[in-house]
Amino acid sequence: MTNTFRALVLTQDEDRKTHHALQDVAFSDLPDGDVTVKIDYSSLNYKDGLAVTGSSPVVRSFPMIPGIDFAGTVTASSSDDYSEGDNVILTGWGVGEKHWGGYAEYARVPAEYLVKMPENGTSLDAMTIGTAGFTAMMAVMALQEHNITADDGDILVTGASGGTGSMAIALLAELGYSVVASTGREELSDYLKNLGASDIIGRLEPSSRPLAKTRWAGAIDSVGGDILAAILPEVHYGGSVACFGLAGGSDLNTTVFPFILRGVNLLGIDSVMCPSDYRVQVWEKAFNTLTPAKLEAMRQIEPLSNVPQLANDILAGQVRGRIIVDVTKY
Ligand code: NDP
Repeated sequence: MTNTFRALVLTQDEDRKTHHALQDVAFSDLPDGDVTVKIDYSSLNYKDGLAVTGSSPVVRSFPMIPGIDFAGTVTASSSDDYSEGDNVILTGWGVGEKHWGGYAEYARVPAEYLVKMPENGTSLDAMTIGTAGFTAMMAVMALQEHNITADDGDILVTGASGGTGSMAIALLAELGYSVVASTGREELSDYLKNLGASDIIGRLEPSSRPLAKTRWAGAIDSVGGDILAAILPEVHYGGSVACFGLAGGSDLNTTVFPFILRGVNLLGIDSVMCPSDYRVQVWEKAFNTLTPAKLEAMRQIEPLSNVPQLANDILAGQVRGRIIVDVTKY
């Protein structure tokens, strides 16, 4: 074994401009942690786009290896919970932001950041799900915990052709829900129908009406901003909207009327600091719900060397479904 491994490394200059380079990194430079993992795959998420391009200050210290998720095999462990050879998954905990992440052949992390691979799970499938699918699964579970059933009516998914949106459609459809996909790319209608959307609509127009004709039993929103504000007045009495994204904006200009006159619930979803025991349930449910055909339909595997270009593409809303990063190809 050599003393170095390959990684995408971010640095920042004195003008706070972010630079990236594929380079060899010494094992001795890996951060503290009780488990070392040989990474098979990472993935590309919206936050990775922000980190690699430097367009938002998500990276807290430099040099940084970005990549907010990974799956691989334990090569060394001083934790009682993991042994050499165990297959593991990591999402969140600030990895790729303040702790070196997944765009590398190796990572070292605290044991509590890891989840054991569910039985029959593979690294490729785990990263097809990745942070996006994990978050979409949390959103679906939040709707279920608020008693939104498949009999209640249509569920709206916004940002439908992106990573979280694609995952939400596939998960909801497999669980028997009727899913309406809202997208700015209607040319991807066949892709969205193949994932399980029963109807495709354009992006919701901004609305200033506090209440409107109800259309949605529930919604999963990755876009935020004016689009989230346009969803709330259209939600059925007692319906729920799970919200986790800001691809379209972080402001939310709305009124209290959907909440106080229709009992609508706005459910915040955070995957980063999600407690460990809940993570295990989320992963098991995601693996048990998504079929191999759906996972295959959503993924595109790319070499590590393509990440900088793809980081620009995801911020421009040009990525379809899930990009899997093969860290052994650079
Ligand atoms: P993607 O880029 O893959 O998907 C976002 C989708 O939103 C795009 O594909 C596009 O879909 C739509 N979109 C993009 N720009 C706009 C715009 N200006 N107005 C309206 N729609 C737009 O990103 P991800 O799925 O990885 O992430 C989506 C969001 O969720 C991000 O903000 C991300 O940070 C957040 N997120 C939050 C998590 C949490 O724990 N809270 C975890 C994971 C993600 P289309 O072309 O179909 O309209």
